[in-house]
Amino acid sequence: MYRRDTLPATNIHLMKSIRLHEISGSPPSTAIVIGSGIVGAATAYYLGKRGVAVHLLEATAPAAEASGAADGAVSVASKRPGTMMTAALRGVALYRDLARDGLLADLYKTRSTFIIAASQAECELLEKHREALLDAGVKAVALSRQALQKRFQVLSPNALMGVEVHDEGHAIGYEIVHRLVKASGAFVHRDTPVREFVEAGGRVAGVVTPKGVMTADAMVIAAGGGSANLLNLDNVLIPRKGQLLVTERAPALNRAMPGAIMSGRYLLSKGSQKGTGALPSRGLGLVIDPLRTGQFLIGGTREDFGDRQTNDIDAVRRILLAAVDLVPGLADVRLLRSFAGVRTAVIDGLPLIGRLPGRENAYVATGFEGDGICLGPLTGKTIAQMICGETPEFDLSDFDPARFMAGKVAA
Ligand SMILES: Cc1cc2nc3c(=O)[nH]c(=O)nc-3n(C[C@H](O)[C@H](O)[C@H](O)COP(=O)(O)OP(=O)(O)OC[C@H]3O[C@@H](n4cnc5c(N)ncnc54)[C@H](O)[C@@H]3O)c2cc1C
Repeated sequence: MYRRDTLPATNIHLMKSIRLHEISGSPPSTAIVIGSGIVGAATAYYLGKRGVAVHLLEATAPAAEASGAADGAVSVASKRPGTMMTAALRGVALYRDLARDGLLADLYKTRSTFIIAASQAECELLEKHREALLDAGVKAVALSRQALQKRFQVLSPNALMGVEVHDEGHAIGYEIVHRLVKASGAFVHRDTPVREFVEAGGRVAGVVTPKGVMTADAMVIAAGGGSANLLNLDNVLIPRKGQLLVTERAPALNRAMPGAIMSGRYLLSKGSQKGTGALPSRGLGLVIDPLRTGQFLIGGTREDFGDRQTNDIDAVRRILLAAVDLVPGLADVRLLRSFAGVRTAVIDGLPLIGRLPGRENAYVATGFEGDGICLGPLTGKTIAQMICGETPEFDLSDFDPARFMAGKVAA
């Protein structure tokens, strides 16, 4: 998807500013961010704060894809031990800062996550996962069956033990996107899909859209699943469907839940901990989140097949049965709607974040699977720091896109 081309004469002044940025190492004057999901929106926000004029190019509308169809757990609880857990800790801390500073004050809900085991195998899994959380510095308290019943009175006796992971949170993806886009001051170009890149002097100098060629000093590809086509990464980025449900408001039951529920099986379905036996082709990891509105968000499936835009009765039935099994009171709460979205996963389970190999001024941030709401603001901040010549505030080496792209993008 690269086009080697000479740029139109009208863009010459922008090319001059590219060279100025190159020489001085100062923040660029202009940037193009491709994709207005949470990652693109956060990148635009942090670049805007640094005085960069940002053009946000979006194929359809902000939050049209995964960021608008997510659960919204801002959570360390489910992360795979290692780099992802460390990154999630930073991601949750950043949400807390953004809420404290006012930008997300009304959109971010702090609460605990209760990981619940309903079988002996899940109890063992949970104990192992708790140790990993403790090693990472997370406050994760084991609760016996009795302690759990006392702390979480609306749980069914099927819950054998639990781990309360403190200081987690929840955010609705599309609300965060719209807040960040508005605060960024970026020029938002809706219905503007990027088709290919224009190279000049070994840099990505511009993008081709149906509305014409646009140029800027720096480029960020944050196009979620659309990044696969743009970067020839079809064999690296995998679509993974998820189905979710939203209930009507049930304030009394909502208030009686001291946090969100995550089933032990969720860790398996997500690959956060290895279980015994092969994963089912349609994984179901139960999450029940009591929302700020008094509703419940209940999910969800992980499916590597099927129509990615629709719900089916089998999935909805299984999610509801599993939810009522753990919180019997939900049987009296009506289902309001179901929806589905597509997570973009990387084949090795780690996102791609960093500079494009062989390209001085172009960056990619995609492949967050089920963690992009949590990691989106942190990623946007980090990419902005890289672009502006600052030291990124966390180590990105495990996420380096070069692991799949070496030789692919280089001239
Ligand atoms: C069912 C479900 C549940 C989830 N639950 C959670 C959760 O609890 N916690 C969590 O942290 N994460 C969760 N996620 C994951 C999270 O939603 C994603 O990781 C995150 O939204 C990815 O953000 P993004 O900006 O990378 O991609 P997207 O939100 O997909 O945004 C990419 C944007 O790029 C645009 N685009 C694509 N191609 C082009 C192009 N060529 N030109 C211009 N624009 C283009 C698209 O239209 C889209 O708007 C869930 C996801 C799903 C589907």
